[in-house]
Amino acid sequence: MIHQNLRSILEHLPSSVTLVAVSKYKPLEDLQEAYDAGQRVFAESRPLELLDKYTALPKDIKWHFIGHLQTNKIRYIIDFVDLIESIDSLRLLDAVDKEAKKVGRVVDVLLEVFVAKEETKQGFSPTEICDLFSSKSLSKYPNIRIVGLMAMATFTDKEAQISSEFGSVKSLFDLMNDNLSANLTILSMGMSSDYKLAIAQGANLVRIGSSIFGGR
Ligand SMILES: *Cc1c(COP(=O)(O)O)cnc(C)c1O
Repeated sequence: MIHQNLRSILEHLPSSVTLVAVSKYKPLEDLQEAYDAGQRVFAESRPLELLDKYTALPKDIKWHFIGHLQTNKIRYIIDFVDLIESIDSLRLLDAVDKEAKKVGRVVDVLLEVFVAKEETKQGFSPTEICDLFSSKSLSKYPNIRIVGLMAMATFTDKEAQISSEFGSVKSLFDLMNDNLSANLTILSMGMSSDYKLAIAQGANLVRIGSSIFGGR
């Protein structure tokens, strides 16, 4: 089943788009099945669960972190995580930089942009992100490389709204590269329900869980 789900998603994915398999709450057997079908990039939302799965599974997997990361748990994943997609505050950016320094790494991260019309979502506003880049304060974080943006749309079935939210993140992404000399390459937008809309708006990385592994 997982094999077929992956295949049918990949069939419709442009080759320029990276598929991240969101495996949170799923057992190792499910991840192994996706791995055996060729999937190599997985994402988790809890540090200890990520560490357990990293320890148990093949070492050529690339692990992304996508949940809200508490600063006291960074140390569980900092050694091996390939990309932290969910940097949602300056405090977290600072803490990840310090932990990365301790283990002698420069860690790739995405800044989470808040565009949804929901108070529960986390992240930076577009203005905060522009300020961060134009103020040059990023040199304060030598052990971090900001390689892109991540965003979630409002949970709604109004496709026009979802597309417009994704579109505004793409505009921010382009603005930062064109005018603020950022060097962003990854635009992470889209989950099971809205990844096609996200790709149409320029996403080049999609995070898909339930359409691969079934409901949680
Ligand atoms: C759980 C999660 C996903 C995957 O959601 P699905 O609807 O299962 O595809 C993607 N991104 C983030 C940040 C998540 O927490």
